[in-house]
Amino acid sequence: MGGTHYTITPLSVGTLTIERPQFVWGQGWGTEVLCPVLMFYVEGGGLRVMVDTGCSDPDWATKYHKPFVRRPDEEPARALAAVGVDPAEIDVVVATHLHWDHCYNQELFANARFLVQRRELQYAAAPHPIFANVYEAPVTGMTPPYSRTKFDVLDGDYDLADGFKLVFAPGHAPGMQCPLVSTARGTYYIAGDNAPLYENLEGNRFGRPIPGMIYADLEAYYESFRRMDRLADHVLPGHDMKVLDQARYG
Ligand SMILES: [Zn+2]
Repeated sequence: MGGTHYTITPLSVGTLTIERPQFVWGQGWGTEVLCPVLMFYVEGGGLRVMVDTGCSDPDWATKYHKPFVRRPDEEPARALAAVGVDPAEIDVVVATHLHWDHCYNQELFANARFLVQRRELQYAAAPHPIFANVYEAPVTGMTPPYSRTKFDVLDGDYDLADGFKLVFAPGHAPGMQCPLVSTARGTYYIAGDNAPLYENLEGNRFGRPIPGMIYADLEAYYESFRRMDRLADHVLPGHDMKVLDQARYG
């Protein structure tokens, strides 16, 4: 998939407590799972890319969304510095989707080009009522976290650079996009919330992979899984603590 090889560095900006069936279809009713809010730094061929930009501060997150804790070293600016990233030097920011836990802190990346899917930006402005809060949509009275960002708007798959593609992957959100990145160890697919946990990839008696219970379009979700399986050698989930067991991928 191109001669340029990239490396992928996951970083956490805090931990959410999630009811397990929200993330893994029908599994583990009454149980909770601790989920990091992840950003992924991708570097290669002179290009520096940030995939997603994290969530709000803990007070806001806990008041309006889910229980959320953040260690001092998980403050976004500190978490970036800890892996040697100066946000001013980021060339491109990819928003996988516009849920509140993926698109705060965009103002840190002062010189970046911001990429979002048109479908997602349109949907986030006026989603179905059950999704209004997760987008912090205007109908809630909140100001969406991306409201001051100047986006480049994409329509479907996009070749960002040699060996670096954005795959249009509707499912969890209608305008989801997932980076497909060439590395020395094969292609990595950053699944975002289409596969929040490794459990989604392992599947269960209903097949594999299995979706979460937060989705915009179940048919599209399964089609996105089939494309993911065809394209990816490795998949990185969007909210799994085990992703942090390895400092760098590729
Ligand atoms: Zn989401």
